Amino acid sequence: MKQEIIQRLTEIVGQDNVYTSLEDLYCYSYDASFVKSNKKDLAGIAVYPGNAEETAKILKLANEEKIPVIPRGAGTNVSGGTISVGDSIILVLKRMNKILELDRKNLIAVVEPGVVTGYLQSEVERLGLFYPPDPASLAVSTIGGNVAECAGGPRGVKYGVTRDYVLGLEVVLASGEVINTGGKTIKNVTGYDMTKLFTGSEGTLGVITKIILKLIPKPEAKNTMLAVFSELEQASEAVSEIIAKGVVPATLELLDNIYIRNIEEYAKVGLPTDAEAVLLIEVDGDRQILAKQIDKIEEICKQSGAIQIRIAQTPAEAEELWRARRSAFPAVSRVRPTIIGEDVTVPRSNIPAMVKQIRAIAAKYKVIIAVLGHAGDGNLHATILTDETDREEWSRVEKAIDELFIAAVKLDGTLSGEHGIGRVKSKFITLQTGEAGLEIQRRIKQVLDPNNILNPGVMFGK
Ligand SMILES: Cc1cc2nc3c(=O)[nH]c(=O)nc-3n(C[C@H](O)[C@H](O)[C@H](O)COP(=O)(O)OP(=O)(O)OC[C@H]3O[C@@H](n4cnc5c(N)ncnc54)[C@H](O)[C@@H]3O)c2cc1C
Repeated sequence: MKQEIIQRLTEIVGQDNVYTSLEDLYCYSYDASFVKSNKKDLAGIAVYPGNAEETAKILKLANEEKIPVIPRGAGTNVSGGTISVGDSIILVLKRMNKILELDRKNLIAVVEPGVVTGYLQSEVERLGLFYPPDPASLAVSTIGGNVAECAGGPRGVKYGVTRDYVLGLEVVLASGEVINTGGKTIKNVTGYDMTKLFTGSEGTLGVITKIILKLIPKPEAKNTMLAVFSELEQASEAVSEIIAKGVVPATLELLDNIYIRNIEEYAKVGLPTDAEAVLLIEVDGDRQILAKQIDKIEEICKQSGAIQIRIAQTPAEAEELWRARRSAFPAVSRVRPTIIGEDVTVPRSNIPAMVKQIRAIAAKYKVIIAVLGHAGDGNLHATILTDETDREEWSRVEKAIDELFIAAVKLDGTLSGEHGIGRVKSKFITLQTGEAGLEIQRRIKQVLDPNNILNPGVMFGK
C-alpha cells in the first residue's frame, strides 16, 4: 500500500490501531473457510476504527482512491467473506465493542458491532432477558459479523435467526455517508425495510457501526434429551413428525454415525457408537409445560423407531450432552485435513429426502459426507471430509458439492441457511436467484457502492 495512504489512515485511527507488517497481514488475510490467500492477495493494511466517524473517514478515503475494503469482525466466517483481495484495507471492527444500552423497559439492546455474541448473551441473561441467536462460534464471533451474515444456530427452530432480532442499524456507506435504518420500535414501516437489506449483506453494501437488537424474556427452565436411532432416515422422519405435530423444541439437532463415532473418540461423552443417528433435543419455557413437551417428543421418537431415549436428569448431564454437540467440528477435523461444512437448508418436511440425497451423492462420488444438522429448522450441515491437496479426490468433491446445491434447490431449499455466499458459493447463486434476480441485487450494490470497494468478489464473484 502506498506510504501516503498508510499515513492518512494512521492519522485517522492513530498509530496503535494500524497493522502493516507481513506477519500481521497474513493474520488478517484469512478466515475460517478453506479459501487461502496467496501472497499476491495479501491485504495492504489492517486498521481498527474506534467509532463511526473514523469508519466514515476511512471509507471516504478508500472510495476516492478506489481501494477495496474488507470489513472484519472475528474472521470466523466459513464462506471466504474476509479473505483479502490484494492491496486492500482490512477494516477490523473489534475495537468498537461496547454494549451501549440494555433497556429493560423496551426489551432492547444497543450495541457496537465488535461486541462478542456470547458476552452480550451473558450480560443480557444477568438481567433475566434473552438474546437467542446462538451460532456455535458465539464465544468469539461478533454481533456485527452475525448481522452481516445473518447468523443462526441450534435455537433457530424456535427462536429464528439474527435477522429476527435486528430492529435498527447505523451503517457507514462506501461514500462515507452515515445512515440509520429502522429504530427502537417493534412496529416500523417508514420506507423500505433497509434494516433487512443490510442484514445478511456480507459486508458488500455498507459497514455496520451500531445495532439495535430486540430482546425477549429469558425462558424459566429448560431440559435436554437424546433419542437414539438405528437408521438415519428414521431420525430424519422423527424431526419432520415433531414439527408436523406442532411441538416446537428450542433446539433439534441431528448427528449421524460418522459424527457420533468421532465425537465419542474425541470427547468421551457416552454416545452410542453403534447408533446410525441421534437427535439432541432441548425444550424450554415454563416449568409446568416442559414435562408435557418431553413426553410428547418421546412418544413421537419412539413411533419413528427410536431404540433408546435418554432424558438429562441434572443440569450437569444436560451440559455433558451439549458438550458432545459442541465437540462435533473439532472431532471430525481430526479425520481429514480439509473439512467443508456446507449448510444447505430445506423445508423441514423435505429433510428425509435431503438426507437420502446426501447419502446418494456421497456414494456416487466416493467421498465422505457426514451429516449434522440444525434439523429442526431444515439446516443440514453436510460435512465433507477430504484433502484439498489430492487433486483427483478434490475434483470428485467439487462435483459432489454441485449436486448438493442442485438437490437442495430442487427440494425448495436454499444454498445457505446461515454461512452466507461469500467467495465460495458465488458461482452457484443464480441457481436460486435466477439471472434477473441476481441482476437486481447487482444494481442495489451499484447504487450503494458504485466503485465496488466493499468486499469485492463476495456474493457476485469476480
Ligand atoms: C467453529 C465454527 C462454528 C460456526 N457455527 C456457526 C453457526 O452455528 N451458525 C452460523 O450462522 N455461523 C456459524 N459459523 C460461521 C461464523 O461464525 C458466522 O458467520 C459469524 O456470524 C461470523 O462472525 P464474525 O464476527 O467472525 O464475522 P467475520 O467472519 O469477521 O465476517 C463475516 C462477514 O461479515 C462482514 N462483516 C463483519 N463485520 C461487519 C460489519 N460491522 N459491517 C459490515 N460487514 C461486516 C465481513 O466482511 C464478512 O463478509 C461458525 C464458524 C466456526 C468457525
